[in-house]
Amino acid sequence: LYNMVQDLKGNIRVYCRIRPSFRAETKNVIDFVGDDGSLVILDPLRPQKEGKKVFQFNRVFSLTATQDEVFKDTQPLIRSVMDGFNVCIFAYGQTGSGKTHTMSGPLSGSMKDLGINYLALNYLFQLSNGRKDIINYGIHVQMVEIYNEQHKLEIRSSASENGLCLPDATLRAVKSPTDVLNLMKLGEMNRVVSSTAINNRSSRSHSVVTVHVHGKDISGNTLRSCLHLVDLAGSERVDKSEVTGDRLKEAQYINKSLSCLGDVITALAQKNSHIPYRNSKLTLLLQDSLGGHAKTLMFAHVSPEEDSFGETVSTLKFAQRVSTV
Ligand code: ADP
Ligand code: MG
Repeated sequence: LYNMVQDLKGNIRVYCRIRPSFRAETKNVIDFVGDDGSLVILDPLRPQKEGKKVFQFNRVFSLTATQDEVFKDTQPLIRSVMDGFNVCIFAYGQTGSGKTHTMSGPLSGSMKDLGINYLALNYLFQLSNGRKDIINYGIHVQMVEIYNEQHKLEIRSSASENGLCLPDATLRAVKSPTDVLNLMKLGEMNRVVSSTAINNRSSRSHSVVTVHVHGKDISGNTLRSCLHLVDLAGSERVDKSEVTGDRLKEAQYINKSLSCLGDVITALAQKNSHIPYRNSKLTLLLQDSLGGHAKTLMFAHVSPEEDSFGETVSTLKFAQRVSTV
């Protein structure tokens, strides 16, 4: 029934999440958030009437939405992974808009506010335990960072795995939510270490957590599926007149991979016969979780502050383009 309900809603959905403002003195560009997924923003430089822009998504989470509330609307998708569906969840938006908050949450300190990565895995374990008399599940987690398209990890097809696999990325069996948390902390640490070497690398790379699920029931039937949880590089445009060298190259790679991602999702939504997966490493890696019977969810993150208005508009336009509502 879960999958039937999901199928009725289509295979691509877009949620928008607005993060709280951290500066009281600045104007807020969010004008209206509707229960039906509608969102109205206001251009700070134009008068009320002409400055309004209206968007429509599957859901909009206002700045007061908690991690649990956001997860609740993601749960049916996670559940379908256990039934054999491939699922891809993306966090899109400019740097500082809350992508990492949604996907990882704060990994140090208390367990409060953990994000979708952790909550999803926790839920997969719950389902696995609940069904253990009928199906024997195995869960493996893999973490990959894609930086500048030419990441040192080679993406190769393999006949034994379902679709693509990364031979030198570590694939680990996880048995409990604690294993997962430790693995995520390790991944985060690796990202932070490299960010001191290359300027703010964590916002310049795509971080992909892949969960491989396989199951075998009592009559010997097997299922295989995967869940990709993607914290994308910051989508902000850099001013070409201001950056050169490595920074410019980084920006061009990010631009290219994000627009390829948009093209792939749009082509899928329009049911085109040719889907341009091969145009970027990111879409190639995610190929088997985009399209076909796979389900895709994009979180479009925006900041409410007036000085982010330009980026907010372009994030919302991008999200609207890939949305089928
Ligand atoms: P991004 O990954 O898009 O660059 P972050 O997730 O790092 O952005 O968010 C930037 C800052 O805002 C972080 O300090 C984060 O903890 C905080 N933040 C983001 N979203 C929320 C939210 N919904 N509630 C509270 N704090 C948030
Ligand atoms: Mg981040």
